[in-house]
Amino acid sequence: MNSNKKIIKLAFTIQFLFLGLVSCAQNTKVESSIHKNVQEQTNEIFDSLITIRRDFHVNPEVSGQEKRTSEKIAEYLLALGLEVKTGIGGHGVVGILNTGKAGKRIAWRADMDAMHSDIPDVVDFQSKNEGVRHICGHDVNTTIALGIANVMASQKAKLAGTVYFIFQPSEETYKGAKTMIDDGLFETIQPNEIYGSHIAPAPTTVITTKPEWMFADYKIIQVSYKNSTENEQIIDYTKELISSFQNIEPDSKFWDNRNLLDPNIGLASPNTIFKNFTTVNQNFKVEETEKEISISTYIGSSIMKKLDSVLPLLKQKINESKYAENLIDIEYTLERANIYNDKDLTKNALNSIGKIYGAENTILMYGEMPDGRGDDFAYYQEHVPGVYFYLGGSNFEKGILSMPHAPNFQVDESCIKTGVNYFSSLIVERLIN
Ligand SMILES: [Zn+2]
Ligand SMILES: [Zn+2]
Repeated sequence: MNSNKKIIKLAFTIQFLFLGLVSCAQNTKVESSIHKNVQEQTNEIFDSLITIRRDFHVNPEVSGQEKRTSEKIAEYLLALGLEVKTGIGGHGVVGILNTGKAGKRIAWRADMDAMHSDIPDVVDFQSKNEGVRHICGHDVNTTIALGIANVMASQKAKLAGTVYFIFQPSEETYKGAKTMIDDGLFETIQPNEIYGSHIAPAPTTVITTKPEWMFADYKIIQVSYKNSTENEQIIDYTKELISSFQNIEPDSKFWDNRNLLDPNIGLASPNTIFKNFTTVNQNFKVEETEKEISISTYIGSSIMKKLDSVLPLLKQKINESKYAENLIDIEYTLERANIYNDKDLTKNALNSIGKIYGAENTILMYGEMPDGRGDDFAYYQEHVPGVYFYLGGSNFEKGILSMPHAPNFQVDESCIKTGVNYFSSLIVERLIN
């Protein structure tokens, strides 16, 4: 090889490397500029989002009666230029943002309903509807979804694919998601992925989630027997038998909810005590009729499929006991879908958001939430892989604690900005990559 050829080859290599660098740099530029645009648009609409959130807060509507709320939502989405479908599963609303270019189809879900509550609200903009209050923060969840719709619409020209916005009624009753699905939601829209978030007690810049189960599975177990002279003994025996499935000691730190946020043993610690647990609520309900007696209680487990094995085991033990003849039935009288986050999508979402907004703001949970919490977002996940997030709404310095359903529940409204920024950027990342 002569030197001339060497020079040509070197020049070619440098040019090739340089081109590579330029195209990399351009990619980063496009991506970071779109996230900058997301943030600028969020800042631009932030004050209007607070006005919207307070309007929802002043006019709360309980599950199944979200008429005004859904009308306001439809109006907002139409003004953004989205295609809007109303009346899905009651007051459910879907907004469709079609970029006109082929690509992924991503859904974002928010819940709209408020709750019956006579506990006085701590904010100045109190509910006009007596006995009804947004004490779970669905006014904030809904406002964030409208904000995301606005931001995504503003970036439409740079994106490919479709974004669906699902506004769901009746989350508090755990019925709205299922009702919308049964009413043909997934015939109307066919998302590849679905995401949603809920206000939680963490600080306002923090989101948390975890792959697979996020909450313990929770069911009501009921054992019924023929009435007999031995009812007292049967009740004691059955309570003890069901309780034997519990694997947490009575003096465990597990029972103190404050430990959920503890840095060493809480949900965000790899050494969390909130994993591998099965619990049995000790408030058993006993019902006696002329012919039979039934004993029931809540049983929860963070262990996958654990509750499936409880019924046959119980049946076997009772059949081997002296009360075998009395046994009528063992069943779960309450079963519900449980949040199940897709492993890859969860990892991907935390990485994407962490890269743009700081890894310290994206917290991976290691344990499962005990005590029967959950979200009917789980029903969508039975059809479409997705991720459910907790978004912090607390500001401890200002004395604001966003613990849903707590009497002093309140939200630092800056979490609306966090939510719109993080989740708009997440959807952008899903659409451009
Ligand atoms: Zn709630
Ligand atoms: Zn809620």
